[in-house]
Amino acid sequence: MPFKYHGGVHPNYMKAPDVPVISITPPPQVIVPMAQHIGAPCKPIVAVGDYVTMGQKIGDNPAPVSAPIHSPVSGKVIAIEPRPHPLGDNIPAVVIENDYQDTPCTDLAPLTEAELQDQEAILTRIREAGIVGMGGAMFPTAFKIRGGLGKVDTLIINGAECEPYLNGDHWTMRLHPEELLKGIQLARIASGLDKAYYGIEKNKQDAIDLLNSKNPAQYGVEIVPEEVKYPQGGEKLQIKAITNREVKPGGLPAGVGCNVISTQTAYAIYRACYEGVPCFQRTLTMGGSALGKSVNATVRVGTPIRYMVEQVGGFVKEPRKIVLGGPMMGLICSNIDAVNIKGTAGLLFFTEEEDRNVENPTCIHCGQCLQVCPMKLEPVYMYKYFQKRDFEKMQKYHILDCIECGCCSYNCPGRLPLTHTFKTAKLLFAARAAEEKARAEAAAKEAEAKKEAEAK
Ligand code: SF4
Ligand code: SF4
Repeated sequence: MPFKYHGGVHPNYMKAPDVPVISITPPPQVIVPMAQHIGAPCKPIVAVGDYVTMGQKIGDNPAPVSAPIHSPVSGKVIAIEPRPHPLGDNIPAVVIENDYQDTPCTDLAPLTEAELQDQEAILTRIREAGIVGMGGAMFPTAFKIRGGLGKVDTLIINGAECEPYLNGDHWTMRLHPEELLKGIQLARIASGLDKAYYGIEKNKQDAIDLLNSKNPAQYGVEIVPEEVKYPQGGEKLQIKAITNREVKPGGLPAGVGCNVISTQTAYAIYRACYEGVPCFQRTLTMGGSALGKSVNATVRVGTPIRYMVEQVGGFVKEPRKIVLGGPMMGLICSNIDAVNIKGTAGLLFFTEEEDRNVENPTCIHCGQCLQVCPMKLEPVYMYKYFQKRDFEKMQKYHILDCIECGCCSYNCPGRLPLTHTFKTAKLLFAARAAEEKARAEAAAKEAEAKKEAEAK
C-alpha cells in the first residue's frame, strides 16, 4: 500500500496509450551530440572518414561522472563539429552518414550466466553501454548506483509516468515485461540488494497485471500500484510513496537510503547485459496541437526533430513552442534542427492556443498554489520575494527546494508564471554561489601572496 504525499494535481492527461509504437526509420545522417548526460561531456574517439558500426563507441570521457556515447547506425563519419543541441547552444557532435546496413558492433558481448550475477560485471557493463537516466535526468547510471553502495537499502523503479501525453514507459512495460523485470533484477544485483520496488500508477493496470503475471518475485521485484496523481513520478514523491521517507531540503535520495531509476533505464540495462546492445535508442511520445495527434515511437538518438516530424506526417498547425519531455516539467527546445538524445521522453509541439501567458498576471490570494505544492512550499511568497529580489526571504521560504513540478502554475487562476520564476531564481542563486566562491578563492590567493611577500 503506497504512502500518500501532500498536494499534487490531476491535469488533463492527454495520453494515447493505445496508439501502437512505430519505429522511426533512422535518417540519412545522424547527428550524435557529445553531451547526453549530466557530468563531463564526451570527447569524440573517431575521426572524419572513419567507418563505424551500429553500437560502436564514438565518444568517451574518463571522468567519474560521465557515460560513453555510441553510434546509432553504421556508416561513415562525415563531420565532427558543433551542431544544435536540444537543450540549447551548439555542442560538438559526430555526424554519421547512414549506410542503412545496421552492421552491428560486437565489442560488447552478452554477459555470461556467471557475469549476470556478478555485481562488478554488471556495473562495468552499465557504464560501458553508456546508460544514463532515461526518464529525463540523464545522470550516469553506473555512477549513481556505485554512489549508493553501502548507503542505499531500497531500490525503486519509477513506473509512474505521470506527465501528460507520455506513454513510452507504459509501452515498454507492455512489450517487454520479462526483459524489464530482468533489467530490474540486474540493477538490484548491481546495488547489492535483495529486493526492488516498481512503483506504477494505477492508470496502467494492464501493465501491472502483465508484470504480475510474470512472477516478479522470482526476480526480487515487488510491483507497487500507486495513486494516479501528478507528480507521482517525481523522485522525492516516489520515495515518499514507497517508503514513507522524506528527502530533507537540499538532500539526496541516497541520504534516506533510496535510489530511483526509470523504467527505460532498467530496460536499457537488460539490453546491455543480455544482448550486448549499448544505449542508442529509446521509446518516446510525440504530440501536441501542432502535430494534431499522438505518436508513440522508437527512435535512434541523433535523429533530427524536423525529420521525425516529417516521418509522422508533419505539422497540422504552426508550432509556437517545442517541449522536450512532458508539458509540466519539460524543457523548451528552441531549435527544430536539434536532435533527440538519450533522455528525450517526449517531444511536444504546441501552438499559441496552449499559451497560458497573459499580459498582466495578478495574484488573487486564493491560496491554491499552497494546497497543490507537493513540497509543502508557499509559492505565492516565493514569487513575491523574487519580484523584490529579496534573496534572504526567498531562502527563508525554501525556494531551492522547489522541484519545478509545475503544479502551482497549473492551478494558479491569476496565471502567474510561478514555476518559470522559481527556475530563474534557482539559476540566480547558483550564479551568486559561483561568484561568492570565486571571490573567496581570489581573497585566499591574495592573502597567500601577501603572506609570502611578508616572509621575504
Ligand atoms: S494560486 Fe496564484 S493567484 Fe492563487 S495565491 Fe497562488 S499565486 Fe496567488
Ligand atoms: S513548482 Fe515548485 S513551488 Fe510550484 S508546486 Fe512544484 S515544487 Fe511547489
